[in-house]
Amino acid sequence: MESFNYDLIVIGAGSGGTRTARIAAGYGAKTAVVEADRPGGTCVLRGCVPKKLLIYGSEFSRNVEDAIGYSWEVGGIKPNWSDLIVKKNKELDRLHEIYKNLIINSGCDLYRGFGKLISHNKVLVSSNNEEKIISAKKIMIAVGGKSNFPNFVGNEFMINSDEALDLKKLPKSVIIYGSGYIAVEFAGIFSGFGVDTSLVFRSDYVLRGFDLDIRKKLTGQIENSGVRIFPNNNIERIDKNENKYKIKVSDKIILESDLVMGATGRKPNTEDLELEAIGLELGKNGEVLVNNYNQSDIPSIYAIGDVTNRINLTPVAIAEGHAFSDREFGGIKRFVSYENVPCAVFSQPPVSIVGISKNEAVKRGIKVKEYVSEFNPLKNTISGKIEKTLIKLIVDKNNKVIGAHMLGEHAPEIIQGIAIAIKAGANKNHFDETIGIHPTAAEEFVTMK
Ligand code: NDP
Repeated sequence: MESFNYDLIVIGAGSGGTRTARIAAGYGAKTAVVEADRPGGTCVLRGCVPKKLLIYGSEFSRNVEDAIGYSWEVGGIKPNWSDLIVKKNKELDRLHEIYKNLIINSGCDLYRGFGKLISHNKVLVSSNNEEKIISAKKIMIAVGGKSNFPNFVGNEFMINSDEALDLKKLPKSVIIYGSGYIAVEFAGIFSGFGVDTSLVFRSDYVLRGFDLDIRKKLTGQIENSGVRIFPNNNIERIDKNENKYKIKVSDKIILESDLVMGATGRKPNTEDLELEAIGLELGKNGEVLVNNYNQSDIPSIYAIGDVTNRINLTPVAIAEGHAFSDREFGGIKRFVSYENVPCAVFSQPPVSIVGISKNEAVKRGIKVKEYVSEFNPLKNTISGKIEKTLIKLIVDKNNKVIGAHMLGEHAPEIIQGIAIAIKAGANKNHFDETIGIHPTAAEEFVTMK
């Protein structure tokens, strides 16, 4: 029988890869982790965590507006972006150390270098002119994704979210292209820090795929917060003129700004892995195609997370990696359920959902009843902020709650709890019989008639 250096090699030490490796090692599997950058991955180093820290930072301008409404006398406060970036990076260094230690302390060997599959069981690790080949019975690809821009003249002038998270200095003005998760989250960050912010996007409303009423309302709220919006538009070209950019959008509008950020989706990070050279079949966006065991068409090669381009969320990648290691090394045959995966967009105000929307139900031919509540949060009565909260419950013909949607402050914190009820199969009566916590926005979910 062929012998290998390892039972498992994990390529990519992001959240998913790290969980896979340390659970496998916990079951006694001899495990190696290969990472080209620092352990931590997109979520910890270039995504969720730094983004949320900057969102917290940006929210103080809105809080100050509220404070003025509540009769605080406020004066002379201003942000210090570059200082915040230093603090944010210090926190990322701390988290990186934690990730590194999680890998090493669970008994895995950590290889720092770019990992490329050169056969069904071998990985070439390249770093600083040094190359090493290691082999394993099983190989997990957990390399995530990267930003993807459409082709047009001057698209190289756009920065992506990695760069936006690490700007040394704030621009006076920014144009963000796109209206998905990243675009609306960064619109909130930049405008919160006082940058003149514009959002150019090709659809009618932000966040395609979400509930239509929530999309309409959030688009209006983003505009009311001072962000200029250019719906139904594409960027045709960008020219650089000294330190300014000229952005030509499709209906002949020419915009000018100090910075242009592209947030037009992400794609699986497989380009440099040359997986097709070893006969591995990729999907049309470069994703690794896997079965429900996370196994590719080459039996020794597996993939989890964004590189499979299914539900591109960190907790999903972590769950997939954990279940994989339980199955393959722990003798526990379990699979991730992709039903009712909750998610949140940290726009300002945030959106959070679990289950399906009415639009989606209609598309799938499911008969549903939609309960809607739109209200002015108590806090806004005195602050004077005009920003209504919108919540919805979607109930099927058997009275089962199959969707919950919220646009408004604390939506992600509230929907996480509702997701448990929906996962447990709660019906509308369970919601109705639950006593509300008063006065909260969350209580609206149990008083919808
Ligand atoms: P999204 O898929 O959310 O949005 C992509 C945006 O780019 C959409 O507005 C889309 O337009 C637009 N777009 C795509 N292609 C083109 C094109 N050729 N020309 C013009 N516009 C285009 O991607 P993001 O980059 O915002 O985020 C990537 C993924 O990362 C998310 O889908 C999510 O899975 C994950 N993520 C999760 C976060 C969270 O959990 N809070 C935060 C950030 C990212 P249209 O709508 O018209 O298709």
